[in-house]
Amino acid sequence: MEVAVPLLCLAATVLVWGVLWVWGSWERVTRPEQAGLPGGGSRTLLVTAHPDDEAMFFAPTILGLTRLRHQVFLLCFSAGNYYNQGEIRKKELLQSCDVLGIPPSNIMIIENRDFPDDPDVRWDPERAADVLLQHVEANGITLVVTFDEGGVSGHSNHVALNAAVRTLHAEGKLPKGCLVLTLQSVNLLRKYLYLLDLPCSLLLARDALFVLTQREAAQAQRAMSCHHSQLLWFRRLYVLFSRYMRINSLNFL
Ligand SMILES: [Zn+2]
Repeated sequence: MEVAVPLLCLAATVLVWGVLWVWGSWERVTRPEQAGLPGGGSRTLLVTAHPDDEAMFFAPTILGLTRLRHQVFLLCFSAGNYYNQGEIRKKELLQSCDVLGIPPSNIMIIENRDFPDDPDVRWDPERAADVLLQHVEANGITLVVTFDEGGVSGHSNHVALNAAVRTLHAEGKLPKGCLVLTLQSVNLLRKYLYLLDLPCSLLLARDALFVLTQREAAQAQRAMSCHHSQLLWFRRLYVLFSRYMRINSLNFL
């Protein structure tokens, strides 16, 4: 009994500390001005490689930035024509964006032989950087969001977009004041923990963290379900278990 009381006290202290810590972190990330993100009215360009990337990986970011009243644009570098389904996939992308609140006038899909939907083709980062810069300048973009060097799934087309944006950043070619956020890739275990990854995300979040509410999570799932041609059994499992359907951690370059 003499041993149990101090142990219980210790356990209670750790528990209270843990709850307060998670609460403090939660308060921090849900504040609109979190982590130096640009404020309302910012023109934000999400740069993806394939139709469905926006729903599979970036839905928390899109809905989180919309909550912050950003004007979100999407630049998708391919029509996703790997299985000759490009036309279908372009329509699915428009439907998905409609669910996520991105109007058709803010969506740009590149169909260029330099950027085929193919994991075995390495896109030229300099060429991708040129195209990206044109869209940043033409649309007065102040925040660019794309994959990190891990590309979340490791797909070479995702990784190429990170290389492109890094090139622009390193060479100082982005317009003055234009920031870049990259989506943090996590290990396989964390990737499929869904909302259970939240404590880990709160602990490791550096610059920006977006966590969807239950209602927004249903919206993200509806967006993903627009991609009928992609909903094979393993992607249905992905929708159920992937943290990227609920949580996005991003870091500034
Ligand atoms: Zn992709």
